[in-house]
Amino acid sequence: MVTASASALQAHVLTLNRGYVAVQIISARRAFCLLIKGSAEIVNVEDGHYRSYDFESWRETGEMKTAFGERNDAEDWINSVSFCVEVPRIIRLLRYDRVPQHGVKFNRHNIFRRDHSHCQYCKRRFPASQLSLDHVVPRSRGGRTTWDNIVSACLKCNAAKGGRTPREAGMTLANPPRKPNRSLLLPQAVASKKYTCWQSFLTPSQWTNQVENPGRQTAQTGNRAS
Ligand SMILES: [Zn+2]
Repeated sequence: MVTASASALQAHVLTLNRGYVAVQIISARRAFCLLIKGSAEIVNVEDGHYRSYDFESWRETGEMKTAFGERNDAEDWINSVSFCVEVPRIIRLLRYDRVPQHGVKFNRHNIFRRDHSHCQYCKRRFPASQLSLDHVVPRSRGGRTTWDNIVSACLKCNAAKGGRTPREAGMTLANPPRKPNRSLLLPQAVASKKYTCWQSFLTPSQWTNQVENPGRQTAQTGNRAS
């Protein structure tokens, strides 16, 4: 039987390609699948140096840490009856050479992520179920469905704005909409101290953007409107 705290299973793992270029962020569960299959190795930062482990040696090291009481609170662990293993923060794919593409898919989910789940009109945060997409310049006026003309809007603001421009509706935008760069793909958790070891694999703009703007925490409710 395997037990793990919810946070351990939800931990994020940075994936590098064979050339140590950051590729994507995956779940701890997915990382363990890759490690057990032998498709990846662990890259661990130790005293400012990177050390590689295969899954077996990582597990053994974890058992020693456990035996000597050297675990610390910043770590996530998965414990089973027969073994325990620390969730790695970084893994490297041993057979993957490609460099990730720099585009971000234009879809509802990524627009909400770009806007940090905030309605761009009332500037409050909403769950996805209470957000909608708004054409800043309405389609009836030739507004296009593009990164620079679509924003997240709560249902109430979207209904209030109707088929008008923000100026006509007396509303202002929190941020001018634009196409995001790859930093969008990083989870907000990157701002957590747990993930500082990722820093050297991310571009300065990816890192600063996430750390300085990890999403405002002002959850609000909104009214449904059509
Ligand atoms: Zn709103």
